[in-house]
Amino acid sequence: MSALPEPTEAPPGTVQPDDDEAPRRTFELDDRGFKEVPKRWRKFYRIWQGEGDELGPNEVICPVCKVVIRSHRELRPGDRVYCMPCMSRLIVVRRDDGRLEAEVAY
Ligand SMILES: [Zn+2]
Repeated sequence: MSALPEPTEAPPGTVQPDDDEAPRRTFELDDRGFKEVPKRWRKFYRIWQGEGDELGPNEVICPVCKVVIRSHRELRPGDRVYCMPCMSRLIVVRRDDGRLEAEVAY
């Protein structure tokens, strides 16, 4: 008898707790040629293409300058991100439709 493989994903309908206990997916970031920040930071930003531009779970739009901020890790509500192009400090919130959005943190 061979042992069953460990499940690697939660079954459908499972609610993942929104805390740091749950493992986050990580993402490889590529340089999209965002020239408004120094080269070493370029991969953390990209131009938003407008309606129809799907954001990944590691991306949020800056509400101030509409640039897409990208993270190495999946973003969760409560995360703080920094928009270097407009120097805004932002906090990630979840909208009613389940999507992530950034709000300016005061
Ligand atoms: Zn911004």
